[in-house]
Amino acid sequence: AKRSGGGCLLCYDSHMSAEDSSDQLHLQQGLRDALRRGELSLHYQPKLTSGEGRLHGVEALLRWRHPERGMISPAVFIPVAERFGLIGRIGDWVIEEACAQLAQWQKRGWQCRVAINLSAQQLRQPDLARRILGTLARHGLDPTLLVCELTETAMMESMKDGCSVLDELDAAGVRVSIDDFGTGYSSLSYLRRLPASQLKIDRSLIIGVDSDVQARAVLEAVVRLAHALDMEVVAEGVETEAQRQALAAIGCDVLQGFLFARPMDVQALQDWVGRSGCDRPAARLSAVSDS
Ligand code: C2E
Ligand code: MG
Ligand code: MG
Ligand code: MG
Repeated sequence: AKRSGGGCLLCYDSHMSAEDSSDQLHLQQGLRDALRRGELSLHYQPKLTSGEGRLHGVEALLRWRHPERGMISPAVFIPVAERFGLIGRIGDWVIEEACAQLAQWQKRGWQCRVAINLSAQQLRQPDLARRILGTLARHGLDPTLLVCELTETAMMESMKDGCSVLDELDAAGVRVSIDDFGTGYSSLSYLRRLPASQLKIDRSLIIGVDSDVQARAVLEAVVRLAHALDMEVVAEGVETEAQRQALAAIGCDVLQGFLFARPMDVQALQDWVGRSGCDRPAARLSAVSDS
């Protein structure tokens, strides 16, 4: 099971390990019906620029409201979906839902980037890029508004097959983001060859950034490297003001975490953005300070 992610995951982890595979089979059956019954939804978590705290985009995070068990974490059901060959259909639903939402926001004049998460299994579908680009086109969306987040391990795996899916997305203008950086076994030399324009530093790497000299040194090196490779740096899992200040000082471009906002349903996100005013155009602010 994945180690990073929401606070509830740890209880799920210990819970899962004690269970036999009949539970997985049960979940698998439930997942097959989940799409049809409309039990899946996307929640959105804001990403903010570290300097001015402006809205940089939102990340779509999948939610499953199980009829008997309530909310089940994606860290639990995504691996089940992958194992039982359901990730293709679920992934397609996420792509469609995120693009439909993006189109709706566009119509209301809200230029908001949306990030979706892609799993290693999805990357093995050779027509994935064409399907994503097709969905964007069907909704009349500029591909540069979509960000695809993939773990370094998933990226590395797909590199073996020539990286064509990622290259296709990158060539069309879709931004590719390396998720959970610092949790895999990445070789730094790979970083240079990945068609990624964004690096998301995992929460485990930013813990201690405000108090531990060595943690900070590692982070500074990562940020410098990413910038040298022309990548934008996002810190995920920011929970404290002390972390925010340290990350801004180090030069992280974008911050995301419970300190600012948790993942929320569409209505709650729109309310939050309206209340915080973080979507007001930065141009207006800089115009004021320039004059
Ligand atoms: P991720 O993409 O790395 O997403 C970040 C996770 O950290 C999310 O958990 C988010 O709710 C949580 N998080 C955000 N800010 C904080 C914070 O300040 N502190 C802490 N402790 N946690 C924070 P979530 O939503 O449970 O998702 C877990 C993982 O499930 C995601 O990790 C992603 O790998 C996967 N996932 C979610 N949605 C999808 C999807 O649509 N498709 C695929 N393939 N995977 C998905
Ligand atoms: Mg994660
Ligand atoms: Mg992500
Ligand atoms: Mg992550």
